[in-house]
Amino acid sequence: MEIRDGLGLSPRKVTYLKYIAGCSGAVRTSELAVRFGVDPSTVTKTLGELADAGLLSLTPYHGAVLSQSGREYAGFLTKRHRILALALTHFGLSDEEACAEASRFESLVSKGAIDRMCRAMGHPQNGACGAITHDTGCLGAGTGSQDPVPGEPEQGGQP
Ligand SMILES: [Zn+2]
Ligand SMILES: [Zn+2]
Repeated sequence: MEIRDGLGLSPRKVTYLKYIAGCSGAVRTSELAVRFGVDPSTVTKTLGELADAGLLSLTPYHGAVLSQSGREYAGFLTKRHRILALALTHFGLSDEEACAEASRFESLVSKGAIDRMCRAMGHPQNGACGAITHDTGCLGAGTGSQDPVPGEPEQGGQP
């Protein structure tokens, strides 16, 4: 599963993927169920859908492990969270408040918007709750090495 516009995952999947990415090693269904206070059958169903999307592999009695594309997707999810939280701290929220508020709506914000916000904020290194990484998405043209896809229209700019 590719990141594309970054809107392909439900809030629940975003939460699980970020949590699994933050753990070392496999994460058990029961652990997720306790952590997020949901029924294990719900966790199993959601993990199955994430596995079908190629973002993780599931092993019985072992748990879920992110695939390469799952790690890449999780990297984007973490960046999106931190850019949004950092933006909120510029409007009077504490780090903790910004972190919690961003978690409530972050899954509705597109990758294109995050890349432009990152650019507008001058590619910050530190977010409210961790380091922020930068890639060709936010760095865009002018880095000299990797230019965007030729012919790709610049996003935004309503007439
Ligand atoms: Zn946070
Ligand atoms: Zn950036």
